[in-house]
Amino acid sequence: MSNALEVRGLAVRYGHVQAVRGIDFTLVQNGITALVGANGAGKTTTLLALSGLIPKAQGQVLFEGDDITHLPAHKIVARGIIQVPEGRAILATMSIKENLELGAYRFGGNGRPQDFDYVFNLFPRLRERLHGLAGNLSGGEQQMLAIGRALMARPRLLLLDEPSMGLAPLIVREIFQALRTIHEDGLTLLLVEQNVRQALRLAQYGYVLENGNMVLSDTGQQLLQHPRVIQAYLGV
Ligand code: ATP
Repeated sequence: MSNALEVRGLAVRYGHVQAVRGIDFTLVQNGITALVGANGAGKTTTLLALSGLIPKAQGQVLFEGDDITHLPAHKIVARGIIQVPEGRAILATMSIKENLELGAYRFGGNGRPQDFDYVFNLFPRLRERLHGLAGNLSGGEQQMLAIGRALMARPRLLLLDEPSMGLAPLIVREIFQALRTIHEDGLTLLLVEQNVRQALRLAQYGYVLENGNMVLSDTGQQLLQHPRVIQAYLGV
């Protein structure tokens, strides 16, 4: 199995706050990897740094063997690394269709028909509401739209920041089932989650981040049985 992404010694600072302290991790090609940890552990910061949206203080990032450490955000997107941001960041006053079209902006058009079809097969509700305002969607539907918009950009690696946040368990199951389908269709996924149990059930591999340090890594199954994970995150 080859690695899609290799991160070595990544450190990120906000002024004097050292949010990520020299972490190493790898994403297996076509795998689902979970990055879990408590509020403030540094998960979002890690994703933002990978996307080139905030500067890296130290470290190296290799994507499909190429050094992308110093690429600007738009070139990272052009490589196929697409982030689904925390809180979804959909454009509420635009239609579902327009939000999806925005995802395809890097191709210079309004999105390819086969990409719309892919998103609609995954999330039929988006097709039904195509011309409605995105702001009128439920939280779960907005998350579907945020994932759909990212898929319109034809990612090779999808970075998902807390897709389950604020959603009812049934909707979370639906979203995670869609992520499984996306994975089975050949994408590499990095899933950042505070919902540790669900994330580690879905992911083949997992990393645990605490106070900016990577403290554990193993298969998702093994981590679910790890005493430290059970005590700190599973509440049993
Ligand atoms: P959450 O689930 O709350 O998003 P997280 O694991 O994603 O948590 P981060 O948002 O990456 O954590 O935050 C890591 C640390 O960096 C925290 O101590 C946070 O307070 C700090 N931090 C995050 N953003 C900033 C910022 N813009 N300026 C200063 N400190 C920040």
